[in-house]
Amino acid sequence: MSHEWNFAERVGRVEPSATVAVGNKASELTEQGVDVVDLSVGEPDFPTPKRIRETGQQAIEAGHTGYTSSNGLLELRKAVSTDLKGKGVACEPDNVIVSPGAKQSLFETMQALVDEGDEVVLLDPAWVSYEAMAKIAGADLTRIDLGQHEFQLEPALDELTAALSNETQLLVVNSPSNPTGAVFSDAALKGVRDLAVEHGITVISDEIYDRIVYDADPTSLASLDGMAERTVTVNGFSKAYAMTGWRLGYLAAPEPLVSQVSKVHSHSVTCAANFVQRAGVEALRSVETEVAEMVAAFENRRDLVVDLLADRGKEIPRPEGAFYAMIPTEEGPNDDMEWCDRAIEDAHVAAVPGTAFNAPGYARISYAASEGRLREGFSRLAEEGLI
Ligand code: PMP
Ligand code: GLU
Repeated sequence: MSHEWNFAERVGRVEPSATVAVGNKASELTEQGVDVVDLSVGEPDFPTPKRIRETGQQAIEAGHTGYTSSNGLLELRKAVSTDLKGKGVACEPDNVIVSPGAKQSLFETMQALVDEGDEVVLLDPAWVSYEAMAKIAGADLTRIDLGQHEFQLEPALDELTAALSNETQLLVVNSPSNPTGAVFSDAALKGVRDLAVEHGITVISDEIYDRIVYDADPTSLASLDGMAERTVTVNGFSKAYAMTGWRLGYLAAPEPLVSQVSKVHSHSVTCAANFVQRAGVEALRSVETEVAEMVAAFENRRDLVVDLLADRGKEIPRPEGAFYAMIPTEEGPNDDMEWCDRAIEDAHVAAVPGTAFNAPGYARISYAASEGRLREGFSRLAEEGLI
């Protein structure tokens, strides 16, 4: 006899992650023997630096395989707070919760802050999971389109001013940005600060790409006067340290937020993996050279992508951070969905439709791929007339 499932309304509000879904499709085709140039999921193509791998292995051998305290090992929380202090953010170890991936920190923060009907403001194009996490928590979304401002926030401050009010519960800022690579100026962040203070708004600052920057020196939002007390700073190890599969991230916030989020944390994941946290301490302490090498490689690829697009007559704002670029597709409803379908089906190049980031008319590529694969991907896209 078949079972009639009666699902909670909240799961009906969201779709599976589009970034993950395109990545899955690329993997399926690859398993069938198709040579796919996978520019979909944002994942460094470098191995995790050796010292981090060795520390993780040694930690397993040393028996660090049990639970840690729920909010994370003190040693790691100390390393995180030292790192944040270096960015001008007031942070003690007790302000930190270590999570299995930054995604979990974001999810738990939304769960702790957002009630049914609360207003959450996103800056579009916005990473796909902010919308989903906010909707699962019951949020009503207000969206500010940075697409008409070359993806910069500063020229959109008037729109942000008009959108924010005392009713706004939460604003999410992500700089350097996924999917655009934009790094918001200090003037833009100060504009956010002024509005957040005026209206008593909590801000999530997702800084997971802050070490992957080229021409910019990003400011940590919580370092601005008036922001430490209202900012949840989120960061993680996946991108800068090529540690996506280790699942390690964290949030840093004032004590009242930490004590509420830690309830959700302790009832959902208990803690991040013990030996992974120990590897995280090593990452923060000792692999700056390796990070700099990876960032230099990403910068060359960024330049290559911008040049390859310019050769095809497509000028894009030069991304200043992260490892993504938005390729304009032609005008038309759902055009970017069709573009990405054709890219994967005909050119065997995987890219994520801008629609997933509330930015139709673009396809996002991740250029965390070798120059050879990028050239191959672009030549296939050109052959299919997609660029
Ligand atoms: N924030 C942004 C903007 C991201 O692109 C990602 C990528 N997955 C995350 C958070 C979460 O990363 P992770 O869970 O791997 O730490
Ligand atoms: N954040 C990366 C991306 O946007 C990884 C996949 C995900 O978690 O969304 O591709």
